[in-house]
Amino acid sequence: MRRGGLLDAGIVLGILVLAAGSTPVGALGVWGIDALRGVERPMPQLVGFFSFSTRSHLTAAVLLPVRAPSDSPLPGALEVAVERVVRTSGPPQHYSTPEAAVEGLRQSWHEDHDLALERWALGRDVVERAASRARSAGSSDPTRWVELRRWLPAHTAAEGDRLVQGPRALATVLELAWPIQAPHHVTSGYGWRIHPTLGTKRFHNGIDLGVPIGTTVFAAQSGRIAVVGENAVSGRFVVIDHDHDVRTAYCHLDQANVTAGEHVERGAPIGASGNSGRSTGPHLHFMVRLAGETLDPHPLRPEDDQTSPGALHGPPVP
Ligand SMILES: [Zn+2]
Repeated sequence: MRRGGLLDAGIVLGILVLAAGSTPVGALGVWGIDALRGVERPMPQLVGFFSFSTRSHLTAAVLLPVRAPSDSPLPGALEVAVERVVRTSGPPQHYSTPEAAVEGLRQSWHEDHDLALERWALGRDVVERAASRARSAGSSDPTRWVELRRWLPAHTAAEGDRLVQGPRALATVLELAWPIQAPHHVTSGYGWRIHPTLGTKRFHNGIDLGVPIGTTVFAAQSGRIAVVGENAVSGRFVVIDHDHDVRTAYCHLDQANVTAGEHVERGAPIGASGNSGRSTGPHLHFMVRLAGETLDPHPLRPEDDQTSPGALHGPPVP
């Protein structure tokens, strides 16, 4: 009897310990106990506990290596991206193998690269029809996938999301530049961690680059400034929309030198790093989103810039 009671107590204690670190009620409990003990902490953001399921399973690591073939007629990392997509989810209908599909795309790119990816993915006729419909309806640029897809039958549009939008998004991610050029350490990597100020287990949706306040922050890719904002958590922040459902965010800034709606080029200065919002020291929180899901930016760091793997767990910022 007594042994059974101990076991029960052990199980209850175990559940409480688990709950404290990984449930909203537990986090509130820990916060409450600390408050009673006179330890001041910001109240935990309970909604954060319910957003874990939207986390990406797709990490940039699975996309590497990214060396583009030097003889590719396709721009940037597009051929590598196309190859990844057809190898993992299959070639377009009229190709029997991924190899034949990639070769077919190279050929058609040589002939005429206007809408070449779309014609390769969906067939020449269906794309020409949609493009001419878009033009006569006054579309500003039917070569943009978001414009063209509105004039396609639903199942064709879905196939284009996979074979046109997919590779373009991957290529955009693979070509991202690093937002900090000054020497720095990665002070906190992407993934699960014990939150430095909340003390609870949280998912870290970006990468922390420890740099002094005032360090220039650069746009990782060309695009349109989607948001310049400020809140209690992210501090002053900038979000850039790179099209194809790819966005990057730069948080805890000291100042932003861009305004919403403005176009920026890859590598353009967009502001100065800082220590604003919920932050334990001066750093840039850099975030990459693909189709609404975050991914680990670290594998995208240029090779000549890589410090030892230990840098991932380097000294925490002061
Ligand atoms: Zn961070």
